[in-house]
Amino acid sequence: MCGIVGYIGDREAQEILIKGLSRLEYRGYDSAGVAVVNGSLEVRKKQGKIARLSADLANASLDGKLGIGHTRWATHGAPNDENAHPHVSTGGSFALVHNGIIENYTALRDMLTTRGYSFVSQTDTEVLVRLIEDFVKQTDLSLGKAVRQALSQVKGTYGIALVTQDDPDMLIAARKGSPLILGVGDGEYFLGSDAAPIVEYTRKVVYLNDGELVIVRRNGFKVFSVDEVKLNKTIHELEWDLEQIEKGGYEHFMLKEIMEQPTALENAMRGRLFEDDPFVKLGGLMDSSHRLRKADRIILCACGTSWHAALVGEYLIEAWARIPVEVEYASEFRYRNPILRDGDAVLVISQSGETADTLAAVREAQRQGIPVYGICNTVGSTIARETDAGVYLHAGPEIGVASTKAFTAQVTILAQLALKLAQDIELSEAELKEIVRELKQIPSKIAEVLEDVSNVEHIAKTFR
Ligand code: GLU
Repeated sequence: MCGIVGYIGDREAQEILIKGLSRLEYRGYDSAGVAVVNGSLEVRKKQGKIARLSADLANASLDGKLGIGHTRWATHGAPNDENAHPHVSTGGSFALVHNGIIENYTALRDMLTTRGYSFVSQTDTEVLVRLIEDFVKQTDLSLGKAVRQALSQVKGTYGIALVTQDDPDMLIAARKGSPLILGVGDGEYFLGSDAAPIVEYTRKVVYLNDGELVIVRRNGFKVFSVDEVKLNKTIHELEWDLEQIEKGGYEHFMLKEIMEQPTALENAMRGRLFEDDPFVKLGGLMDSSHRLRKADRIILCACGTSWHAALVGEYLIEAWARIPVEVEYASEFRYRNPILRDGDAVLVISQSGETADTLAAVREAQRQGIPVYGICNTVGSTIARETDAGVYLHAGPEIGVASTKAFTAQVTILAQLALKLAQDIELSEAELKEIVRELKQIPSKIAEVLEDVSNVEHIAKTFR
């Protein structure tokens, strides 16, 4: 989940949006975009660094005192200009940015397609845009109400912000499972997915809670609950200074990512593992899990920390699914003339999806006619594109070079895969249910451990 910024006030929005996006750059991202309202709605978005977007805006700037911006960390659809946010309604009257994942986007997309809507991107986000459009069209609802109706149909997580050319004095935002903060200025408001883009302008903030929707105008804002009751929100004082916030308040990215593990693991299980249903849903392997299940041998191939995740995966798959597993160093694989036979399946693991040795292993196995599957974090990465099928971690950007949350997310995916391969065959429904129940508890157990890290610091010093 990446970055959202928004502005409504009397200053030029573009500069505030770009600066805000740069402040969120620490989160990592693959594309950036802005939408500004000034009579009409104008959108600019670019794959790659914010500098590319800024260069484009420097050629022809967007005037207007209302706008939204986004840095994307792709989860659905490759990182490219079309998939970058903001996404606009069919007639181009409103624009939306979104952090998070819409789990039921396939069903919604099918429904909207049969109703005559078409899509220009591969994102889950555009489905939400069309859904809002549909509510406006069918029921003649105001945009705010249409957003609320559309969100009630969405399963998954979102932090969203919208602007429309039909109302140049309105910024709409809502959240569920993805943070949003409203910065309160004097006749102006700032929206941020964290405080980083806000703190420079104001320290007065309102934290939106899950299920809440805010309608912001220059002369005030109104927050509504899920059932559309107007809420009285407290205005808090930000304690962080600018520098702290750039790493989300943590001393360094690795620490931040360690602390993000409860969320990363929840996201790795979201839409895949359900408390009341022991059957794991791995959409990316839907058409190929039977092939993996029938494999005589699975070869897990990876480098570095991903290789360590593979070692855990070996134990899990062998213990639960009873399929023999071997773990290979991807860096050795292509050089050691590996024995691959019909009935083998190769599964590669890479956080970035770009690890050169792992990619070479993919190509070596494919050259020998062996099916290759992938577990990656980065959507649209080369390994994700070149493997036959696979599963994404959805752990969010990992900037720290020593892998933390990506490792635990990889193990979480491998556990789900092992369960998927075991279900119906090796494990009874009761056994599956028990494991699922335990897995679902891990994020809160990690959160509990991370609540007090003073002991960890002590132990780390001893070992050092
Ligand atoms: N799921 C959305 C996409 O793939 C948003 C990703 C994000 O949080 O940046 O475009």
